[in-house]
Amino acid sequence: MAGILFIISAPSGSGKSTIVNQLRSLVENLEFSVSWTTRGLRGSEQESREYHFISREEFQRMLDADEFLEHADVFGNWYGTARRSLTEAFSKGKDLLLDIDVQGAAQVRSKVPDAVTIFLMPPSPEILATRLRNRSRAEGAVQEQVISRRLSKARQEIENYREYGYILVNDILDRAVEEMAAIVASERIARSGGPASQEDEELLKMAEQCRQRNSEDRIQPILQAFGVINPETAPR
Ligand code: ADP
Ligand code: 5GP
Repeated sequence: MAGILFIISAPSGSGKSTIVNQLRSLVENLEFSVSWTTRGLRGSEQESREYHFISREEFQRMLDADEFLEHADVFGNWYGTARRSLTEAFSKGKDLLLDIDVQGAAQVRSKVPDAVTIFLMPPSPEILATRLRNRSRAEGAVQEQVISRRLSKARQEIENYREYGYILVNDILDRAVEEMAAIVASERIARSGGPASQEDEELLKMAEQCRQRNSEDRIQPILQAFGVINPETAPR
């Protein structure tokens, strides 16, 4: 049986890497795709752990050879998911998680319509700015220009939230990790076709609450704060 493809997207600094790292120790049989990028190493990153760091020439060569399932220009650098990440994970009977931006997610969705898509939101623009600043400080330098560029990009990305099946809000980290694990578990339960145990029912319930159609009330204040919806016209 083919594995399940999970996609998580979020504005930069929302805490996606933090959540994905915690998920690694919680969820079995889930592989994490390591993307290819032309951006330089940041902070304590290591080659082949966070990314395969390559030159633009090498990226172009892979593109010409049709090696990418999807690729996109994000903040002036190229990022791509190799097709073989998918085939390798599925051939080992594993599910695969892609951490990619909204452009990449749209490309994958059109090729793999049953992919499970999750959009992670920061609790507010202020908290996102703080997290971006803290991360930059930890990595050595805070560049306000970079932070304001990422904040305005965040709004554009959040505008795409309706394209995703599930919405997570990374307010309390443990809760977001628990919800993410529940989404993975509930998709596995649903596709296994077997009867759900009492414990399964709890996970299914938690995941159900994260479905985009059930998240509107929770995310209204975030959408308003980012200016994605107008408070004057928003439903009450
Ligand atoms: P992303 O991968 O989405 O760009 P990171 O995982 O690097 O974001 O997180 C950005 C910063 O926010 C990091 O310094 C991280 O430690 C911090 N962070 C992540 N989640 C939370 C949270 N729930 N509460 C407080 N800080 C968080
Ligand atoms: P960062 O440089 O901060 O690690 O990532 C910047 C953005 O690029 C994030 O939104 C991340 O999800 C996205 N990204 C990382 N890898 C890929 C990829 O392979 N494809 C696409 N489309 N986006 C990616």
